[in-house]
Amino acid sequence: MSEETNKRLALITGAGRGIGRAIAERLGADGYKVICVSKSPGSCGSAAEAINAAGGEAVAYPVDVADSAAVRTLCEQVLEEQGTVDILINNAGITRDNLLFRMGEADWDAVLQTNLTSCFTFTKYLARPMTRTRWGRIINITSVVGIMGNAGQANYAAAKAGMIGFTKSLAKEFAARKITVNAVAPGFIQTDMTAELGDEARENITKFVPLKRLGTVEDIAGITAFLVSDEASYITGQVFTVDGGMVM
Ligand code: NAP
Repeated sequence: MSEETNKRLALITGAGRGIGRAIAERLGADGYKVICVSKSPGSCGSAAEAINAAGGEAVAYPVDVADSAAVRTLCEQVLEEQGTVDILINNAGITRDNLLFRMGEADWDAVLQTNLTSCFTFTKYLARPMTRTRWGRIINITSVVGIMGNAGQANYAAAKAGMIGFTKSLAKEFAARKITVNAVAPGFIQTDMTAELGDEARENITKFVPLKRLGTVEDIAGITAFLVSDEASYITGQVFTVDGGMVM
């Protein structure tokens, strides 16, 4: 790891658990300074503690990413206290599944606000320092559901498809400033989000996965670590599915 890479700061939303935590721990181990963001202070605090205990450097900033005003205040605080952010991983997300006629407006709004609007607010308030240094990495954690749709997940699919359009538009907008913007689209990954599916549903899903297993959080952390590195400097505006071959 170069001296320059060692000084880079990475902010990860939803870093308290699951995929976000694995990305935070991986980037911490790779020598980046990590800013862990999640809703509950205990959750992002324990992620930061684990990274520090393993010899890395991390700080925790709790915020409700669905609260745009709070996100703006938090981003201002982070830039004041940390100086800059070089890498932004928009990962925080929720599901509120239901068939359309049973889906309440609150379920629609919560999913769009948490998954998609948070992506807009964090990027809007944190990308400016990247434009000044002419180096930046933005990774949006979308989903295969945003590519292929899913019955009972119209809100989630719309949010995740929106993240893909957002990724491609910003990749074009920021290319001249040497900021790359990419999306990672996980398939079914073993986390709290998929734990509620139950054993039978998980077995059925596995049948449709050519590699015959659910993904691990490390599968997503690995590609994210590559995409934020200098080795990925010629890759932008892309969506990388990490799904055991489910969508091809
Ligand atoms: P998870 O285990 O449920 O963890 C979600 C994380 O997001 C938690 O740290 C949680 O914070 C944070 N979060 C949720 N709502 C928030 C809010 N309003 N404000 C701040 N933080 C909030 O989820 P996951 O499975 O790791 O999923 C991570 C991302 O990958 C999501 O965007 C998800 O859509 C996407 N994804 C997951 C899968 C999968 O199979 N798991 C597949 C495709 C895409 P707390 O810890 O404080 O609660």
